Amino acid sequence: RERAELARGEGPGRTSDGHPVKLLLNIGSARDLADGAEGVGLFRTEFLFLGRRTEPSLEEQVTAYSEVFSRAPLVVVRTLDAGTDKPLPFLGLPQEPNPALGVRGLRVSRLLPGVLDTQLEAIARAADATGAEPWVMAPMVTTAGEAAEFAARARARGIARVGVMVEVPAAALHADRLLREVDFLSIGTNDLSQYTLAADRQHPGLADLLDPWQPALLELIGRCAEAGRAAGKPVGVCGEAAGDPRLAPVLAGLGVTSLSMAAVCVPAVRAALATRTLTECRELAAKALADGL
Ligand code: PEP
Ligand code: MG
Repeated sequence: RERAELARGEGPGRTSDGHPVKLLLNIGSARDLADGAEGVGLFRTEFLFLGRRTEPSLEEQVTAYSEVFSRAPLVVVRTLDAGTDKPLPFLGLPQEPNPALGVRGLRVSRLLPGVLDTQLEAIARAADATGAEPWVMAPMVTTAGEAAEFAARARARGIARVGVMVEVPAAALHADRLLREVDFLSIGTNDLSQYTLAADRQHPGLADLLDPWQPALLELIGRCAEAGRAAGKPVGVCGEAAGDPRLAPVLAGLGVTSLSMAAVCVPAVRAALATRTLTECRELAAKALADGL
């Protein structure tokens, strides 16, 4: 049956010897939902906020989140990731000379805690309304203290599965401490490569540094996965790297438990995993860590 599923481009993600690696979708709204994956690994909620003069109301948010929760078996919602490459005029944040290192992602809640609280409330109400149990995570978390504070705010609203994204090298280095505070990690390789290699993710001339095969990046990913294994908690990858069929076996070999990507990438990643045993994936990972690009 597994072979028939694979031939049809269906079924859960797994290596040829049956080691599971969940295949999940990155979506920006319900319109991006598609068949063939095991759920949503990254629901970017910015779509509701971008291009607005005013904050979306609680009711508007409940409706938008409910639509996604009612249609996918598992949804990892990311709270608002504003700043730098995702500017939000209505927040009225001060201009900064170095916005990638400024008030962005979870840090916005230092200045405007109400925006996050309303969003968490809307997620909790949408979960109640649909009977779903969404996982919720924060972007741009740097310290275990930030993770603990976010987790407390989310759990106070009854959200059961709380995680954080690993996008900052400090968070990857302290993945074990983060995992004492939260239930899962999701590695955002787009930002983690930007901050690890000190190369603007939007800079076309620095593509070689931003390449996800950079061994320093892979080493941080492996460190997070190892912390997840030790804690018995899931650690996925949701940056663009997760949708690369050549890299997917390497990421599986490093120990990540899920890969979240655009729907178009799912079939090729599923096929790439299915042609290798877990041992072969580990060998590829060891080689990538040693040889790099
Ligand atoms: C990432 O940084 O890898 C990520 C998934 O988040 P975004 O691309 O939305 O910043
Ligand atoms: Mg990011």
